[in-house]
Amino acid sequence: MSNQLIGQGVARGIVIGRAHLLAPSELDIRQYHIQRGDVLHEVARLNNAFSLVRAELEQLRDNVAGDAPAEVKAFLDLHRMILDDSLLCDAPRDLVRTRLINAEWALTIQLEEVCLQFEAIDDEYFRSRSQDVRQVVERVLRRLAGGRPSPVPLARKLEEGERLVLVAHDLGPADVLHFRQDAGGSLAGFITELGGPTSHTMILARSLGLPAIVGVADARSTIEEGDLLIIDSDAGRVIVRPQDEALDEYRQRILAQGQARTALRKLRGKLSRTKDGIPVELLANIEMPEDVRDALDAGADGVGLFRTEFLFMNRDRLPSEDEQFESYSKVARAMKGKPVVIRTLDIGADKVLNASARQSLTMAGDGGDAPSVEPNPALGLRAIRYCLAYPDLFLTQLRAILRASAHGTVRILVPMLAHVHEIEQALQFVARAKEQLQERHQKFDTRIAVGGMIEVPAAALNLGPFVERLKFLSLGTNDLIQYALAIDRSDSSVAYLYEPLHPAVLQLIHHTIRTGSRAGLPVSVCGEMAGDLGSVELLLGMGLRRFSMNPAQLLGVKQRLFELDSKVAGRLAARVARLSDPLEIRAALERAQRAARNAAARAPRRRA
Ligand code: PEP
Ligand code: MG
Repeated sequence: MSNQLIGQGVARGIVIGRAHLLAPSELDIRQYHIQRGDVLHEVARLNNAFSLVRAELEQLRDNVAGDAPAEVKAFLDLHRMILDDSLLCDAPRDLVRTRLINAEWALTIQLEEVCLQFEAIDDEYFRSRSQDVRQVVERVLRRLAGGRPSPVPLARKLEEGERLVLVAHDLGPADVLHFRQDAGGSLAGFITELGGPTSHTMILARSLGLPAIVGVADARSTIEEGDLLIIDSDAGRVIVRPQDEALDEYRQRILAQGQARTALRKLRGKLSRTKDGIPVELLANIEMPEDVRDALDAGADGVGLFRTEFLFMNRDRLPSEDEQFESYSKVARAMKGKPVVIRTLDIGADKVLNASARQSLTMAGDGGDAPSVEPNPALGLRAIRYCLAYPDLFLTQLRAILRASAHGTVRILVPMLAHVHEIEQALQFVARAKEQLQERHQKFDTRIAVGGMIEVPAAALNLGPFVERLKFLSLGTNDLIQYALAIDRSDSSVAYLYEPLHPAVLQLIHHTIRTGSRAGLPVSVCGEMAGDLGSVELLLGMGLRRFSMNPAQLLGVKQRLFELDSKVAGRLAARVARLSDPLEIRAALERAQRAARNAAARAPRRRA
């Protein structure tokens, strides 16, 4: 029997593939055998994870307020005792050594063993303590997950021509990077039970051109390993074990989509402009240096956002200045003089460094360490805040970007600015990095432009300091929406509140475009909204002339622009500004879209 599941589609398109379920637990635990030579490394991972959790629990206990109920401290003490019990902390090490299995596997085997012992106890209170053991082990597993990822275990080999659809409770961006390396071309798409459509995980999926559906609440109880799946991410639908008719229908649709893509490719060499001849820059967002190929392939006018943090993730040592320079200059050279906007490290929130990489960092000021528990990481030490807290990390990256500027047209973009002092400090760091290179007699573009991301509402509402001190602005709508509407963009339980068309969000965007443009500063949108066909006319009407998006979306947006008249779009933006309900706004945009399409279909063919 076929079955349909509904979620939110992320990257566009349809794929058919075989399900591969990632461990049916809260955490995706990978289990594999190791070589004898890797035992020490695996035991060290376990030790490290246990120490981190110990510190985490200690800090939690220290932070418990004096008037908190006694049970809170008792509960933390209990967890600390469980953690230190040799049944949990010693036995897994022995399992790693004797059975040659990875740390996660050893820990889960031991977890089940300990829980069995608890569950055999007559006393109700003790029996229920197995829940605490599970929670402690989960903490350790989470810490292990921050370490080097392990290979994807496949239950059975794929047959010729078959592709894989990963089905997981949740996936972090680091996992996605890892799966891309591991499964390569056989990876067809993702389904996750958690996650919002603009989480960084899904941005990566989109950048890999992998259709994905997030927020499919019952995915792992309905889908079985090896099931045939159709992912229709345009409709946010998963068809499990499809009947032959559905398979035929979707195969036809995949063919039609392929033909449409081929037709779009004809637009590659054409200048992007509106029907009334207004030029619009279409830029590419990239995550890794290799992605520059996709940008070139789509005929992008430049790279509007290079998310550099992915170079820093999934590794135990941070990239050196030279390694970073290689990556940045590779992109700058490949773009042959077209602009390349390199964003400084936006680490934090859902993008985390490996524990061992973090340990090599020294904090500014008292030389302390970052707290091991972040109560609210999206509001915590992220992006520019992180860079200012770790000056060496920031300076190393700035020197690498500056050196790359001798090999193309490079610009520096600073994420998550909200305060004047952050802008000023960031500029001082750029000046310091320049001095250091001058002392070393190394070349760079002395007039390199430094811009700022507008992704915190406070920045959008107080643009004065930004336009006075910076050379360009880039609207990060993904975060702007998250912070304006107070919803975590990676939390599926509030994904229904993630509303790009909320009037407050639109006002912030419109105000930024207007203020930046009036001050003579180029303004772009580099959040997901820029590549959303439903929002193109509205953004154009607000005065936007630079859109930066995933390369896969670029030609579709170019085609849409050919159908649009900037004055009509301006009137649409003015009408929308008077509406207060996102549903009404969406309906107005859809009407406008239909009208533009019909007009384009009626108009005689003109040379673009
Ligand atoms: C954004 O917030 O819109 C943005 C482009 O940055 P990121 O998605 O990497 O946070
Ligand atoms: Mg952002």
